[in-house]
Amino acid sequence: MFYPQGGGQRYDVGKINGNQVEEVQKHSGAVLHRTPNHDLKEGKSIKGVVNGEKRKQLTQHHSTTHMVNAAAREELGEHIYQAGASKKLEKARLDITHYEKPDQDTLDEIEGKVRETIQEDHKINVLEMDKSEAEQEYGFRIYQGGAPPGNTIRLIDIEDVDIEACGGTHLTQTSHAEEFIVTGCKRIQDGVVRLEYKAGKAAEEYISTLLDIYEDSKEILEIDRPLNDEDKRQEVRDLAKVFSVEKKDLKKTLERFVEEKKDFRDKRDRLADFLEIEERESPEERKPASLSEAGELLFDQRMFYEKRVEKLESRIEEYVEEKADEDTVLEVPTENIGLLIQVTQKLSSMKSARITLIGDKGGVSASENNLDAREPLKERFKDVQGDKGFAKAFN
Ligand SMILES: [Zn+2]
Repeated sequence: MFYPQGGGQRYDVGKINGNQVEEVQKHSGAVLHRTPNHDLKEGKSIKGVVNGEKRKQLTQHHSTTHMVNAAAREELGEHIYQAGASKKLEKARLDITHYEKPDQDTLDEIEGKVRETIQEDHKINVLEMDKSEAEQEYGFRIYQGGAPPGNTIRLIDIEDVDIEACGGTHLTQTSHAEEFIVTGCKRIQDGVVRLEYKAGKAAEEYISTLLDIYEDSKEILEIDRPLNDEDKRQEVRDLAKVFSVEKKDLKKTLERFVEEKKDFRDKRDRLADFLEIEERESPEERKPASLSEAGELLFDQRMFYEKRVEKLESRIEEYVEEKADEDTVLEVPTENIGLLIQVTQKLSSMKSARITLIGDKGGVSASENNLDAREPLKERFKDVQGDKGFAKAFN
């Protein structure tokens, strides 16, 4: 009655006479139930209760796996075969024989086909058949999970959709899968592509997580547009693509980008002030129409300000050179101490002067004449390292 680990389907859990069954495995023809704490004795009658909720979830994942296989075959071609499968509680996957990772549109088609199969409510029949008879009638395609031993085989027939030999637990109607969503796809080896998906409650939970991600993203990006749930999911998918991250990482990625954009803009403004350069405000004005457009804009803005900071930093030397005389102390709004070291050393020898530059993270001083390089830094920093020629101090 308990389904043991097999055919890629996870074992059932539940109770035998009130004792927790934690694992069920098939071993040399017997089904072994692991119950760590039990009072079972030989000859005693037992009552087993399978955890129905978990069984249902595994069954939904198993039946939808057959539907995914059929949908992939319909969408990608007759060469599609099952190379492996796994049906766990939280997710399921099917490895198929295909040469390249299908694009998003194709994955959407596969997802749509499975959802359609669920909505159309096909009957799922379990047939016991003579093996050679089944092979003659349906071909060798019935052996998606490999040919089982024995003369009779058990076939799972999803009417008008798919038929294959299988020993797993199955729904009686496709509509019992309730919900379905493709969650991922990757090429796992030469000629094998892995499709990941969820059905039933696992799918519902995943979808509600996606909608939460949508709400979070919309708030961070300050976009408000009335959308249905399907479009919200699509927006989340598009947005994740913009940043090349997993959907679950979107919120923290967006927060990081907002933070970094502000940071770079601030640095740019301070540098521009210091260098007495008029900065054009730039890409702030674009008005995004969708979440992914807002994401692209944020991405571009962050890049823009970072590039501006780099550009302005490259002009520090020229500016300091213009200002420098025999003993120059300047506060430079940059964290780039490496750059300050380079500039002070070069300019002090070029101008035979003492150049002291104090950045955000510390300061450096270099002197060509016999001036003590440590002196100008001493007032501000406790630990000044160096001597007459060169000194530095860090915050
Ligand atoms: Zn199966």
